[in-house]
Amino acid sequence: MERNLGLEQKLELLMSLAADDREGSPGMVSPATGSAPLPPRLRHANEVGALRPLNIRNLRPLPGMKMSLLRVLMTNACTFNCHYCPMRRDRSMPRTLLKPEELVRIFLGALSRGWCEGLFVTTGIPGRPVKVMDDLIHALALLRERHDFKGYIHVKIVPGAETAQIERITSLASRVSLNLEAPCGESLSRIAPEKNFATSLATLEHARALVVREREAESYGRPRDRLHPGGTSGMTMQFVVGATPDSDRTLIERTTELYARGGIHHAHFAAFRPIRDTPLENARATPALREHRLYQADYLLRQYGFGAEELVYDDAGNLPLSTEPKVAWALSHPERFPVEVKTASRSALVRVPGIGPATARRIVMERNSVILRGLGDLRRLGVVAARAAGFLTLNGRRLQTLRWAEQLGFWTADEEAGVPQVVYEVSPGTFR
Ligand code: SF4
Repeated sequence: MERNLGLEQKLELLMSLAADDREGSPGMVSPATGSAPLPPRLRHANEVGALRPLNIRNLRPLPGMKMSLLRVLMTNACTFNCHYCPMRRDRSMPRTLLKPEELVRIFLGALSRGWCEGLFVTTGIPGRPVKVMDDLIHALALLRERHDFKGYIHVKIVPGAETAQIERITSLASRVSLNLEAPCGESLSRIAPEKNFATSLATLEHARALVVREREAESYGRPRDRLHPGGTSGMTMQFVVGATPDSDRTLIERTTELYARGGIHHAHFAAFRPIRDTPLENARATPALREHRLYQADYLLRQYGFGAEELVYDDAGNLPLSTEPKVAWALSHPERFPVEVKTASRSALVRVPGIGPATARRIVMERNSVILRGLGDLRRLGVVAARAAGFLTLNGRRLQTLRWAEQLGFWTADEEAGVPQVVYEVSPGTFR
């Protein structure tokens, strides 16, 4: 039963769907698999681990939305030589390439079996970016305009795409993304000397303007064309963190500046990992906790109404690793605490560590109709009592004698000191 196949078996079956378009003698069937042999450019697809063409991932592309996506790496070949990237030109590894028709056949095969609901396509850049963009557009156009697929498609735009290509691919996609990798040109040239920051930024800006225009048209009542959603799910962009000397403040400032112009859903921060057989193989990995802190800070900006200038940084301009950004802000503003649960505004409550926007809303809605006696009652409303207690009063009474309980996360920065150097085969950021 196909329904009971494990992930690896599913991916193998899906890969075999590429064989229908094989290069070589037609009609040849492999006695081992019962299917036609894969073309030479896909023969090593199972030998490249995470850099293989297919994977199935459960993601949350939008808040409250769970979706299983077929992740397609159209090719792991690249003519660029970015120092941090496992797919860089000079690295020895088997290269694979899916043609647009194969990608479409595989995706429709996965969709019809109920193994995925949406598609995420990313790619290396073998040769001219314009040719790669043509292939991406061809794949999306086949799915939308020939096969009538109205679901979610997220596609990576390649820096250097032509204007008309950016417009076409954005019109076909639910979400487009572009990886800036660094917050400025000087930093980018350190880790990706062949890339041009101005080109990447111009490509991102063009797509962003299209998304903003499309969203505006929808807000004025134009119904969504589900075959041409125009990127209205919002763009994403990625920064590699720690491969350059850029501080968290610099990254946050660049991110905030881009958010302000609209059209961007969120940023990805990928903690640098040294990859075997790359120029940065001996560089230290960036603590995963730094990436986590950047996401927390980003969340404060997007969901909690914090301004970028309110974040607390250390002398080097980085977010403290040992304290989450919201706690760091609260500790640096003793004049704002304690907050009285029974009377505080929603915006004051949401500033309390351990109280999120939904919980603050619930407290304001329910505090006059339910009896609140102590931490147990607040917990039932969603308050994370261990973090919030030191910052609150209830009916004028402090809920904890200590001023606050620091949330240490699952490890502290110090635990990273002295750990042996680990070299990786792949970086998670490769797939965003
Ligand atoms: S980061 Fe992108 S452009 Fe650079 S080597 Fe990797 S796949 Fe190629």
